[in-house]
Amino acid sequence: MHWADVEAGLLVDSPLIATGITPSGPIHLGSLREILTGDAIRRAKDDARLIYIADSIDPLRKVYPFLNEDYEEYVGKPLSEIPCPCGSHESYAHHFLAPFLESIERLGVECDVLHTHEMYAEGEYEEAARKLILNRERVKDILTTVTGRTLNNDWYPYNPICRECGKMNTNVTNFSDPYVEYICGCGYQGKADIRKADGKLPWRCDWPARWWILGVECEPLGKDHAAAGGSWDTGKLIVEDIFDRDAPNPVVYEWIQLKGKGAMSSSTGVAIKAEDILDTVGPEVVRFLLYKYKLQTHIDIEPGLGVLELIDEYDAWEAGYFAGTIDEDSRRVYELSQVDDIPAQQPYRVPYKHLVNLVQIYDDKKHTWELVRDDKCNIHDRKLFETRVEQVRYWLNKFAPDMVKFSILESLPEVQLSDIERTFLSEYLEELISKEDWTPEWLHQKVHERAEETGIKKGKAFRLFYRIFIGQPRGPKLGRFLAQLERDFVVDRLREACLDH
Ligand SMILES: [Zn+2]
Ligand SMILES: [Zn+2]
Repeated sequence: MHWADVEAGLLVDSPLIATGITPSGPIHLGSLREILTGDAIRRAKDDARLIYIADSIDPLRKVYPFLNEDYEEYVGKPLSEIPCPCGSHESYAHHFLAPFLESIERLGVECDVLHTHEMYAEGEYEEAARKLILNRERVKDILTTVTGRTLNNDWYPYNPICRECGKMNTNVTNFSDPYVEYICGCGYQGKADIRKADGKLPWRCDWPARWWILGVECEPLGKDHAAAGGSWDTGKLIVEDIFDRDAPNPVVYEWIQLKGKGAMSSSTGVAIKAEDILDTVGPEVVRFLLYKYKLQTHIDIEPGLGVLELIDEYDAWEAGYFAGTIDEDSRRVYELSQVDDIPAQQPYRVPYKHLVNLVQIYDDKKHTWELVRDDKCNIHDRKLFETRVEQVRYWLNKFAPDMVKFSILESLPEVQLSDIERTFLSEYLEELISKEDWTPEWLHQKVHERAEETGIKKGKAFRLFYRIFIGQPRGPKLGRFLAQLERDFVVDRLREACLDH
Protein backbone atom coordinates (compact mmCIF):
# COMPACT_ATOMS: atom_id res chain seq x y z
CA MET A 1 0.00 0.00 0.00
CA HIS A 2 1.28 3.50 -0.75
CA TRP A 3 2.40 5.46 2.33
CA ALA A 4 -0.29 8.09 1.75
CA ASP A 5 -2.98 5.43 2.20
CA VAL A 6 -1.21 3.92 5.20
CA GLU A 7 -1.02 7.31 6.94
CA ALA A 8 -4.61 8.15 6.00
CA GLY A 9 -5.72 4.86 7.52
CA LEU A 10 -4.32 5.90 10.89
CA LEU A 11 -6.45 9.04 11.11
CA VAL A 12 -9.85 9.77 12.63
CA ASP A 13 -12.68 11.00 10.41
CA SER A 14 -12.38 14.48 8.87
CA PRO A 15 -8.88 15.09 10.20
CA LEU A 16 -6.92 18.30 10.08
CA ILE A 17 -3.44 17.94 8.59
CA ALA A 18 -1.03 20.78 9.31
CA THR A 19 2.24 21.80 7.68
CA GLY A 20 4.15 25.03 7.81
CA ILE A 21 7.23 27.09 7.31
CA THR A 22 9.01 30.21 8.49
CA PRO A 23 9.12 32.43 5.41
CA SER A 24 12.57 33.84 6.11
CA GLY A 25 13.97 33.36 2.62
CA PRO A 26 13.29 31.90 -0.82
CA ILE A 27 11.22 28.77 -0.35
CA HIS A 28 12.86 25.97 -2.25
CA LEU A 29 11.99 22.62 -3.76
CA GLY A 30 13.01 20.90 -0.50
CA SER A 31 10.15 22.62 1.31
CA LEU A 32 7.69 21.13 -1.14
CA ARG A 33 8.19 17.72 0.38
CA GLU A 34 6.33 18.72 3.51
CA ILE A 35 3.28 20.24 1.86
CA LEU A 36 3.09 17.54 -0.82
CA THR A 37 3.32 14.84 1.84
CA GLY A 38 0.37 16.49 3.57
CA ASP A 39 -1.51 16.82 0.30
CA ALA A 40 -1.12 13.13 -0.57
CA ILE A 41 -2.59 12.15 2.81
CA ARG A 42 -5.37 14.69 2.37
CA ARG A 43 -6.27 13.11 -0.95
CA ALA A 44 -6.17 9.64 0.55
CA LYS A 45 -8.59 10.47 3.37
CA ASP A 46 -12.22 11.51 3.00
CA ASP A 47 -13.04 14.97 4.29
CA ALA A 48 -9.49 15.67 5.36
CA ARG A 49 -8.41 19.29 5.47
CA LEU A 50 -4.90 20.59 4.96
CA ILE A 51 -3.55 23.84 6.39
CA TYR A 52 -0.30 25.60 5.70
CA ILE A 53 0.90 27.77 8.52
CA ALA A 54 3.31 30.55 7.70
CA ASP A 55 5.26 31.55 10.78
CA SER A 56 5.14 35.17 9.75
CA ILE A 57 5.51 36.50 13.28
CA ASP A 58 8.89 34.79 13.69
CA PRO A 59 11.82 37.18 13.98
CA LEU A 60 14.45 37.67 11.31
CA ARG A 61 17.41 35.75 12.71
CA LYS A 62 20.23 37.34 10.74
CA VAL A 63 21.11 39.12 7.54
CA TYR A 64 21.07 36.18 5.13
CA PRO A 65 23.44 36.13 2.15
CA PHE A 66 20.56 37.03 -0.20
CA LEU A 67 19.75 40.25 1.72
CA ASN A 68 21.56 43.56 1.59
CA GLU A 69 23.09 45.01 4.73
CA ASP A 70 20.16 47.41 5.23
CA TYR A 71 18.44 44.44 6.78
CA GLU A 72 20.75 44.56 9.80
CA GLU A 73 18.32 46.93 11.55
CA TYR A 74 15.46 44.42 11.16
CA VAL A 75 17.17 41.48 12.84
CA GLY A 76 14.97 40.47 15.77
CA LYS A 77 11.79 41.97 14.30
CA PRO A 78 8.82 39.87 13.14
CA LEU A 79 8.96 38.97 9.45
CA SER A 80 5.45 40.40 9.04
CA GLU A 81 6.76 43.82 10.15
CA ILE A 82 9.80 44.00 7.89
CA PRO A 83 9.63 45.69 4.49
CA CYS A 84 9.70 43.42 1.47
CA PRO A 85 12.95 43.33 -0.51
CA CYS A 86 11.32 44.19 -3.85
CA GLY A 87 8.87 46.81 -2.66
CA SER A 88 5.73 45.25 -4.08
CA HIS A 89 4.61 42.94 -1.28
CA GLU A 90 2.88 43.63 1.99
CA SER A 91 5.88 42.48 4.04
CA TYR A 92 9.08 40.47 4.04
CA ALA A 93 7.07 37.35 4.92
CA HIS A 94 4.64 37.90 2.05
CA HIS A 95 7.48 38.52 -0.37
CA PHE A 96 8.88 35.03 0.13
CA LEU A 97 5.54 33.31 0.56
CA ALA A 98 3.87 34.66 -2.56
CA PRO A 99 5.85 32.68 -5.17
CA PHE A 100 5.65 29.57 -3.02
CA LEU A 101 1.88 29.80 -2.63
CA GLU A 102 1.64 30.24 -6.37
CA SER A 103 3.74 27.10 -6.79
CA ILE A 104 1.60 24.98 -4.51
CA GLU A 105 -1.50 26.14 -6.35
CA ARG A 106 0.07 25.01 -9.63
CA LEU A 107 0.81 21.70 -7.93
CA GLY A 108 -2.88 21.23 -7.22
CA VAL A 109 -2.40 21.37 -3.46
CA GLU A 110 -5.65 22.21 -1.72
CA CYS A 111 -4.98 23.96 1.55
CA ASP A 112 -5.92 26.92 3.68
CA VAL A 113 -3.08 29.27 4.45
CA LEU A 114 -2.78 30.76 7.93
CA HIS A 115 -0.35 33.48 9.00
CA THR A 116 0.75 33.37 12.62
CA HIS A 117 0.94 37.18 12.89
CA GLU A 118 -2.79 37.24 12.15
CA MET A 119 -3.58 34.36 14.48
CA TYR A 120 -1.86 36.19 17.32
CA ALA A 121 -3.48 39.50 16.39
CA GLU A 122 -6.91 37.87 16.43
CA GLY A 123 -6.35 36.49 19.92
CA GLU A 124 -6.31 32.85 18.85
CA TYR A 125 -3.29 32.15 21.02
CA GLU A 126 -4.63 33.88 24.13
CA GLU A 127 -5.81 30.83 26.07
CA ALA A 128 -2.82 28.73 25.05
CA ALA A 129 -0.40 31.46 26.10
CA ARG A 130 -2.18 31.77 29.46
CA LYS A 131 -2.00 28.02 30.13
CA LEU A 132 1.67 27.89 29.25
CA ILE A 133 2.59 30.92 31.31
CA LEU A 134 0.61 29.75 34.34
CA ASN A 135 2.32 26.35 34.06
CA ARG A 136 5.70 27.73 33.23
CA GLU A 137 7.59 25.67 35.82
CA ARG A 138 6.15 22.48 34.38
CA VAL A 139 6.93 23.61 30.82
CA LYS A 140 10.45 24.52 31.86
CA ASP A 141 10.88 21.09 33.44
CA ILE A 142 9.88 19.37 30.22
CA LEU A 143 12.20 21.50 28.11
CA THR A 144 15.23 21.12 30.37
CA THR A 145 14.73 17.39 30.92
CA VAL A 146 14.20 16.54 27.27
CA THR A 147 16.76 18.87 25.71
CA GLY A 148 19.39 18.89 28.44
CA ARG A 149 19.55 22.68 28.13
CA THR A 150 19.30 24.93 31.14
CA LEU A 151 16.87 27.83 31.20
CA ASN A 152 17.23 30.96 33.31
CA ASN A 153 15.09 31.43 36.38
CA ASP A 154 13.26 34.30 34.75
CA TRP A 155 12.45 32.24 31.63
CA TYR A 156 8.87 32.61 30.37
CA PRO A 157 7.20 30.68 27.58
CA TYR A 158 6.45 33.98 25.88
CA ASN A 159 8.62 36.39 23.88
CA PRO A 160 7.26 39.95 23.94
CA ILE A 161 7.93 42.25 21.01
CA CYS A 162 9.30 45.55 22.34
CA ARG A 163 6.86 48.35 21.67
CA GLU A 164 9.73 50.79 21.34
CA CYS A 165 12.27 49.08 19.09
CA GLY A 166 10.04 46.34 17.60
CA LYS A 167 12.47 43.54 18.42
CA MET A 168 12.13 40.30 20.36
CA ASN A 169 15.07 41.01 22.60
CA THR A 170 13.24 41.28 25.88
CA ASN A 171 13.39 39.84 29.38
CA VAL A 172 10.07 39.06 31.00
CA THR A 173 9.71 40.38 34.54
CA ASN A 174 6.18 39.45 35.48
CA PHE A 175 2.81 38.16 34.28
CA SER A 176 -0.25 40.08 35.30
CA ASP A 177 -3.02 38.52 33.24
CA PRO A 178 -3.37 39.36 30.34
CA TYR A 179 -0.12 41.34 30.37
CA VAL A 180 3.42 40.04 30.16
CA GLU A 181 5.73 42.70 31.59
CA TYR A 182 9.21 43.06 30.17
CA ILE A 183 12.41 45.02 29.95
CA CYS A 184 13.91 45.31 26.51
CA GLY A 185 17.58 45.31 25.55
CA CYS A 186 16.96 48.84 24.26
CA GLY A 187 16.04 49.97 27.78
CA TYR A 188 12.29 50.20 27.25
CA GLN A 189 9.99 48.72 29.90
CA GLY A 190 6.55 47.70 28.79
CA LYS A 191 3.63 45.29 28.79
CA ALA A 192 2.65 42.80 26.09
CA ASP A 193 -1.01 41.79 25.80
CA ILE A 194 -1.37 38.03 25.21
CA ARG A 195 -4.66 38.71 23.40
CA LYS A 196 -2.77 40.54 20.67
CA ALA A 197 0.26 40.16 18.41
CA ASP A 198 2.40 41.83 21.10
CA GLY A 199 4.62 38.80 21.30
CA LYS A 200 4.77 35.13 20.51
CA LEU A 201 5.34 31.77 22.08
CA PRO A 202 8.78 30.25 21.57
CA TRP A 203 8.73 27.64 18.81
CA ARG A 204 8.81 24.64 21.13
CA CYS A 205 5.67 25.94 22.87
CA ASP A 206 4.02 27.43 19.81
CA TRP A 207 3.91 24.09 18.00
CA PRO A 208 1.98 22.13 20.66
CA ALA A 209 -0.17 25.21 21.28
CA ARG A 210 -1.35 25.29 17.68
CA TRP A 211 -2.10 21.55 17.72
CA TRP A 212 -4.47 22.28 20.54
CA ILE A 213 -5.88 25.55 19.16
CA LEU A 214 -6.57 24.15 15.70
CA GLY A 215 -7.16 20.49 16.52
CA VAL A 216 -4.34 19.09 14.41
CA GLU A 217 -4.52 15.31 13.82
CA CYS A 218 -1.61 14.79 11.47
CA GLU A 219 1.63 16.64 10.96
CA PRO A 220 4.33 15.91 8.38
CA LEU A 221 7.69 16.96 9.80
CA GLY A 222 11.30 17.00 8.68
CA LYS A 223 13.74 14.73 10.39
CA ASP A 224 15.42 17.65 12.21
CA HIS A 225 12.28 18.24 14.28
CA ALA A 226 11.91 14.52 14.84
CA ALA A 227 15.44 13.99 16.20
CA ALA A 228 15.74 12.83 19.82
CA GLY A 229 15.34 15.83 22.12
CA GLY A 230 13.98 17.84 19.19
CA SER A 231 10.88 19.98 19.08
CA TRP A 232 8.64 17.00 18.37
CA ASP A 233 9.64 15.31 21.62
CA THR A 234 9.05 18.41 23.72
CA GLY A 235 5.88 19.33 21.80
CA LYS A 236 4.38 15.92 22.47
CA LEU A 237 4.96 16.17 26.21
CA ILE A 238 3.74 19.76 26.38
CA VAL A 239 0.53 19.08 24.47
CA GLU A 240 -0.23 16.07 26.69
CA ASP A 241 0.70 17.74 29.94
CA ILE A 242 -0.44 21.32 29.52
CA PHE A 243 -3.23 20.97 26.95
CA ASP A 244 -4.42 17.51 27.92
CA ARG A 245 -4.53 16.27 24.37
CA ASP A 246 -2.67 13.73 22.24
CA ALA A 247 -0.02 14.87 19.79
CA PRO A 248 -0.95 14.61 16.12
CA ASN A 249 0.18 11.62 14.07
CA PRO A 250 3.73 12.45 13.06
CA VAL A 251 4.74 11.75 9.46
CA VAL A 252 8.51 12.08 9.27
CA TYR A 253 10.12 12.71 5.91
CA GLU A 254 13.73 12.84 4.70
CA TRP A 255 15.39 15.77 2.92
CA ILE A 256 15.59 16.51 -0.74
CA GLN A 257 19.23 16.99 -1.63
CA LEU A 258 20.88 18.74 -4.48
CA LYS A 259 23.08 16.02 -5.90
CA GLY A 260 26.68 16.42 -4.78
CA LYS A 261 25.88 19.51 -2.68
CA GLY A 262 23.82 18.25 0.25
CA ALA A 263 20.44 19.09 1.74
CA MET A 264 18.66 22.09 0.30
CA SER A 265 18.60 25.16 2.46
CA SER A 266 17.73 28.70 1.54
CA SER A 267 20.14 30.13 4.11
CA THR A 268 23.14 28.40 2.53
CA GLY A 269 21.95 28.97 -1.03
CA VAL A 270 22.09 25.24 -1.84
CA ALA A 271 18.62 25.18 -3.30
CA ILE A 272 16.42 25.15 -6.35
CA LYS A 273 13.45 27.46 -6.21
CA ALA A 274 10.12 25.67 -6.29
CA GLU A 275 8.96 27.78 -9.24
CA ASP A 276 12.10 26.97 -11.23
CA ILE A 277 11.62 23.24 -10.99
CA LEU A 278 7.92 23.63 -11.85
CA ASP A 279 8.77 25.62 -14.95
CA THR A 280 11.27 22.93 -15.92
CA VAL A 281 9.31 19.73 -15.45
CA GLY A 282 5.71 20.68 -14.66
CA PRO A 283 3.67 19.92 -11.54
CA GLU A 284 2.87 16.27 -12.26
CA VAL A 285 6.53 15.33 -12.49
CA VAL A 286 7.32 17.19 -9.25
CA ARG A 287 4.55 15.30 -7.46
CA PHE A 288 5.78 12.09 -9.06
CA LEU A 289 9.31 12.72 -7.82
CA LEU A 290 8.07 12.94 -4.23
CA TYR A 291 5.50 10.17 -4.30
CA LYS A 292 7.55 7.48 -5.95
CA TYR A 293 9.88 7.38 -2.95
CA LYS A 294 9.24 6.19 0.56
CA LEU A 295 9.13 9.04 3.07
CA GLN A 296 12.29 7.89 4.79
CA THR A 297 14.28 7.90 1.55
CA HIS A 298 16.26 11.00 0.81
CA ILE A 299 15.75 12.30 -2.68
CA ASP A 300 18.66 13.46 -4.81
CA ILE A 301 17.83 15.92 -7.51
CA GLU A 302 20.18 16.88 -10.29
CA PRO A 303 18.62 19.63 -12.35
CA GLY A 304 20.97 19.19 -15.32
CA LEU A 305 20.92 15.85 -17.10
CA GLY A 306 19.12 14.30 -14.11
CA VAL A 307 15.95 16.10 -15.19
CA LEU A 308 15.99 14.27 -18.51
CA GLU A 309 16.05 10.91 -16.76
CA LEU A 310 13.30 11.93 -14.37
CA ILE A 311 10.96 12.94 -17.16
CA ASP A 312 11.70 9.81 -19.15
CA GLU A 313 10.87 7.82 -16.06
CA TYR A 314 7.58 9.66 -15.63
CA ASP A 315 6.65 9.01 -19.27
CA ALA A 316 7.47 5.32 -18.91
CA TRP A 317 5.48 5.14 -15.67
CA GLU A 318 2.52 6.74 -17.41
CA ALA A 319 2.75 4.31 -20.31
CA GLY A 320 2.86 1.45 -17.81
CA TYR A 321 -0.23 2.80 -16.08
CA PHE A 322 -2.26 2.80 -19.27
CA ALA A 323 -0.87 -0.53 -20.45
CA GLY A 324 -1.70 -2.10 -17.09
CA THR A 325 1.87 -3.31 -16.66
CA ILE A 326 2.75 -1.64 -13.33
CA ASP A 327 1.76 -2.83 -9.86
CA GLU A 328 -0.88 -1.34 -7.54
CA ASP A 329 1.55 0.86 -5.60
CA SER A 330 3.00 2.27 -8.77
CA ARG A 331 -0.49 2.95 -10.13
CA ARG A 332 -1.22 4.86 -6.95
CA VAL A 333 1.93 6.94 -7.43
CA TYR A 334 0.74 7.92 -10.89
CA GLU A 335 -2.73 8.80 -9.62
CA LEU A 336 -1.39 10.92 -6.79
CA SER A 337 0.90 12.69 -9.23
CA GLN A 338 -1.97 14.11 -11.25
CA VAL A 339 -2.98 17.71 -10.71
CA ASP A 340 -6.25 17.34 -12.60
CA ASP A 341 -8.31 14.21 -13.16
CA ILE A 342 -6.49 11.13 -14.37
CA PRO A 343 -6.48 11.34 -18.18
CA ALA A 344 -9.17 9.18 -19.83
CA GLN A 345 -6.62 7.85 -22.29
CA GLN A 346 -2.87 7.79 -22.48
CA PRO A 347 -1.54 11.24 -23.42
CA TYR A 348 0.72 11.49 -26.43
CA ARG A 349 4.16 12.46 -25.13
CA VAL A 350 7.01 13.73 -27.22
CA PRO A 351 10.13 12.65 -25.32
CA TYR A 352 11.69 15.61 -23.52
CA LYS A 353 15.11 14.56 -24.79
CA HIS A 354 13.98 14.78 -28.41
CA LEU A 355 12.58 18.22 -27.79
CA VAL A 356 15.91 19.35 -26.36
CA ASN A 357 17.27 19.00 -29.89
CA LEU A 358 14.17 20.08 -31.76
CA VAL A 359 13.72 23.39 -29.97
CA GLN A 360 17.32 24.24 -30.75
CA ILE A 361 16.86 23.34 -34.42
CA TYR A 362 13.46 24.87 -35.10
CA ASP A 363 12.13 28.09 -33.71
CA ASP A 364 8.63 27.40 -34.91
CA LYS A 365 6.43 25.37 -32.56
CA LYS A 366 3.82 24.73 -35.22
CA HIS A 367 6.36 23.29 -37.59
CA THR A 368 7.90 21.16 -34.85
CA TRP A 369 4.48 19.79 -33.94
CA GLU A 370 3.93 18.65 -37.52
CA LEU A 371 7.20 16.74 -37.32
CA VAL A 372 6.41 14.89 -34.12
CA ARG A 373 2.64 14.37 -34.08
CA ASP A 374 0.83 11.24 -35.12
CA ASP A 375 -2.58 10.81 -36.73
CA LYS A 376 -4.43 10.16 -33.49
CA CYS A 377 -3.27 13.31 -31.70
CA ASN A 378 -5.96 15.64 -30.39
CA ILE A 379 -5.95 19.21 -29.20
CA HIS A 380 -5.07 18.13 -25.68
CA ASP A 381 -1.93 16.34 -26.91
CA ARG A 382 -0.99 19.47 -28.79
CA LYS A 383 -1.27 21.48 -25.57
CA LEU A 384 0.90 19.00 -23.69
CA PHE A 385 3.46 19.31 -26.44
CA GLU A 386 3.47 23.09 -26.29
CA THR A 387 3.83 23.07 -22.52
CA ARG A 388 6.73 20.68 -22.79
CA VAL A 389 8.42 22.85 -25.39
CA GLU A 390 8.26 25.77 -22.94
CA GLN A 391 9.67 23.57 -20.18
CA VAL A 392 12.55 22.46 -22.38
CA ARG A 393 13.35 26.07 -23.23
CA TYR A 394 13.33 26.93 -19.54
CA TRP A 395 15.62 24.02 -18.78
CA LEU A 396 18.04 24.99 -21.56
CA ASN A 397 18.25 28.51 -20.15
CA LYS A 398 18.46 27.64 -16.51
CA PHE A 399 19.90 24.20 -15.88
CA ALA A 400 21.15 22.48 -19.03
CA PRO A 401 24.88 21.75 -19.19
CA ASP A 402 26.71 23.40 -22.08
CA MET A 403 27.36 20.04 -23.72
CA VAL A 404 23.71 19.75 -24.83
CA LYS A 405 23.44 23.28 -26.17
CA PHE A 406 23.96 24.13 -29.81
CA SER A 407 22.62 26.17 -32.66
CA ILE A 408 22.47 25.19 -36.29
CA LEU A 409 24.82 27.27 -38.44
CA GLU A 410 22.92 29.07 -41.15
CA SER A 411 25.62 28.41 -43.70
CA LEU A 412 28.54 26.07 -44.06
CA PRO A 413 31.45 27.24 -41.93
CA GLU A 414 35.09 27.15 -43.06
CA VAL A 415 35.96 23.48 -42.92
CA GLN A 416 39.15 22.12 -44.41
CA LEU A 417 38.45 18.49 -45.16
CA SER A 418 41.33 16.05 -45.50
CA ASP A 419 41.15 13.59 -48.40
CA ILE A 420 40.04 10.79 -46.17
CA GLU A 421 37.35 12.94 -44.59
CA ARG A 422 36.08 13.93 -48.00
CA THR A 423 35.94 10.32 -49.16
CA PHE A 424 34.10 9.27 -46.05
CA LEU A 425 31.61 12.11 -46.31
CA SER A 426 30.88 11.57 -50.01
CA GLU A 427 30.21 7.90 -49.47
CA TYR A 428 28.00 8.63 -46.49
CA LEU A 429 26.12 11.18 -48.57
CA GLU A 430 25.51 8.63 -51.29
CA GLU A 431 24.03 6.27 -48.73
CA LEU A 432 21.73 9.05 -47.53
CA ILE A 433 20.52 9.89 -51.00
CA SER A 434 19.80 6.28 -51.87
CA LYS A 435 17.72 5.67 -48.74
CA GLU A 436 14.16 6.94 -48.58
CA ASP A 437 13.41 6.81 -44.86
CA TRP A 438 16.11 7.68 -42.38
CA THR A 439 15.88 6.37 -38.87
CA PRO A 440 18.21 7.55 -36.12
CA GLU A 441 19.60 4.02 -35.74
CA TRP A 442 20.28 3.66 -39.45
CA LEU A 443 21.95 7.07 -39.68
CA HIS A 444 24.16 6.19 -36.75
CA GLN A 445 25.01 2.70 -38.00
CA LYS A 446 26.02 4.01 -41.41
CA VAL A 447 28.59 6.37 -39.87
CA HIS A 448 30.21 3.35 -38.27
CA GLU A 449 30.12 1.27 -41.44
CA ARG A 450 31.37 3.99 -43.75
CA ALA A 451 34.09 5.02 -41.32
CA GLU A 452 35.30 1.45 -41.10
CA GLU A 453 35.42 1.04 -44.85
CA THR A 454 37.16 4.34 -45.47
CA GLY A 455 39.62 3.77 -42.66
CA ILE A 456 38.86 7.07 -40.92
CA LYS A 457 38.83 7.07 -37.10
CA LYS A 458 35.27 6.88 -35.84
CA GLY A 459 35.57 9.78 -33.42
CA LYS A 460 36.85 11.92 -36.24
CA ALA A 461 33.98 10.84 -38.48
CA PHE A 462 31.38 11.85 -35.90
CA ARG A 463 33.09 15.15 -35.12
CA LEU A 464 33.00 16.06 -38.78
CA PHE A 465 29.20 16.36 -38.71
CA TYR A 466 29.24 18.61 -35.67
CA ARG A 467 31.79 20.89 -37.30
CA ILE A 468 29.66 21.12 -40.41
CA PHE A 469 26.26 21.65 -38.81
CA ILE A 470 26.90 23.41 -35.51
CA GLY A 471 30.53 24.50 -35.63
CA GLN A 472 31.38 22.62 -32.44
CA PRO A 473 33.57 19.59 -31.85
CA ARG A 474 30.71 17.69 -30.24
CA GLY A 475 26.95 17.75 -30.11
CA PRO A 476 23.77 15.74 -29.56
CA LYS A 477 23.52 12.05 -30.44
CA LEU A 478 24.19 12.08 -34.15
CA GLY A 479 21.61 9.65 -35.54
CA ARG A 480 18.72 11.37 -33.81
CA PHE A 481 20.07 14.79 -34.60
CA LEU A 482 20.36 14.15 -38.35
CA ALA A 483 16.93 12.52 -38.39
CA GLN A 484 15.44 15.62 -36.82
CA LEU A 485 16.86 17.95 -39.45
CA GLU A 486 15.12 18.49 -42.79
CA ARG A 487 16.24 15.91 -45.33
CA ASP A 488 17.05 18.43 -48.06
CA PHE A 489 18.98 20.60 -45.65
CA VAL A 490 21.18 17.70 -44.58
CA VAL A 491 21.85 16.59 -48.13
CA ASP A 492 22.61 20.09 -49.38
CA ARG A 493 24.90 20.93 -46.49
CA LEU A 494 26.88 17.71 -46.81
CA ARG A 495 27.12 18.09 -50.57
CA GLU A 496 28.44 21.60 -50.17
CA ALA A 497 30.98 20.43 -47.58
CA CYS A 498 32.24 17.75 -49.97
CA LEU A 499 32.69 20.26 -52.78
CA ASP A 500 34.32 22.94 -50.72
CA HIS A 501 38.06 23.41 -51.29
ZN1 LIG B 1 8.52 41.81 -2.54
ZN1 LIG C 1 13.31 47.59 22.62
